[in-house]
Amino acid sequence: MDYPVIIEEDFLPYVDDINTIASECNVTVLVTHSYRKANFGLNGQLRPPGRDERTPHLIGHAIDMVLDTPSGICDSQCTNPEKSCFFEGIQNITGLEYGNGVFNDGPIHIANNLWENGSTQKWDDLYEKNQYNCIIP
Ligand SMILES: [Zn+2]
Repeated sequence: MDYPVIIEEDFLPYVDDINTIASECNVTVLVTHSYRKANFGLNGQLRPPGRDERTPHLIGHAIDMVLDTPSGICDSQCTNPEKSCFFEGIQNITGLEYGNGVFNDGPIHIANNLWENGSTQKWDDLYEKNQYNCIIP
């Protein structure tokens, strides 16, 4: 099933950065998931993310992706020069986090963990705004 890519407007500048890096590294980003409703389980996920985890997906500040590279589709496990280029580019963007430390295979996860400065208020505000107003078609 195809879903639209849904993000919070605050995250758009980061997506623009991701697009620029992808272009410079000769890869195409194929988004597999973005914003999620709370308690929406993905295939293979043991339990759906709830509010307590403050995942960036629940506020539209994360995207999961695979990369279409000259040598084929590349996920979080594969290695090739284009993916290395992309990874290094992402690492250079302040505020972007590559991987989530939970899933070691499958799609690449890139997020902006804006609440890790010690304040959860911004996350909570976006959660209230988006979880009750953003309908996934
Ligand atoms: Zn993710």
